[in-house]
Amino acid sequence: MILKFGDGDLDLKPTKIVAVARNYKAHAEEMRSAVPSKPTFFLKPPSSLVSDNSNVVLPRMSARVDYEVELAVVMKSVVKNSAPGTVKDKILGYTILVDITARDIQAEAKKAGMPWTIAKGYDTFAPLGPRIVGVEEVNEKDLDIWLKVNGEYKQRGNTDQMIFSVEELVSYISHIMTLEPMDVIATGTPSGVGPMEEGDAVEAGIEHIGVLRFRAVRESQ
Ligand code: MG
Repeated sequence: MILKFGDGDLDLKPTKIVAVARNYKAHAEEMRSAVPSKPTFFLKPPSSLVSDNSNVVLPRMSARVDYEVELAVVMKSVVKNSAPGTVKDKILGYTILVDITARDIQAEAKKAGMPWTIAKGYDTFAPLGPRIVGVEEVNEKDLDIWLKVNGEYKQRGNTDQMIFSVEELVSYISHIMTLEPMDVIATGTPSGVGPMEEGDAVEAGIEHIGVLRFRAVRESQ
């Protein structure tokens, strides 16, 4: 996908999208999940990415599809087994990712102790954009983050509510899987997640980054 970065365009082709779960205390509580003592994450496939102003398809297999606005980290260089203090200059910048989730399918998976791959992995389940802001241009520890459906606020938070910082997340993940250039890390969502209906217009914003827009459409029969 083509994204604005600085004065030019970047063709973003991540090898993986790592998505962190429960990184805001209020969201962990609304999901009745324990606040974690170490990061928890899952993978979304790169095939789930769509750019700004796209449609998000609500699959026939799900009766409840939720939005989750997240600060997304885009990697610049390879990170493997790195300490938190050393990872900042290996980050290219930040953007917005909405971690679309088939909540009913996720609930079934949780109950059965099965992975979340299906609930998180449908095509169009990772709208991302509208641009990448360079790592030195923002303080990622203090950014307002919000999401509106049809003009009405549904999520409002600040990245200062994160349980694990961007540097801690990058470091932790790098001890499990090598992070490659252009890999994306979605850093978790604040509270207020909820469902979308056919035709909903969604706007997801992060201070100093911009607004990512998409529309929910029902999968054709
Ligand atoms: Mg999420």
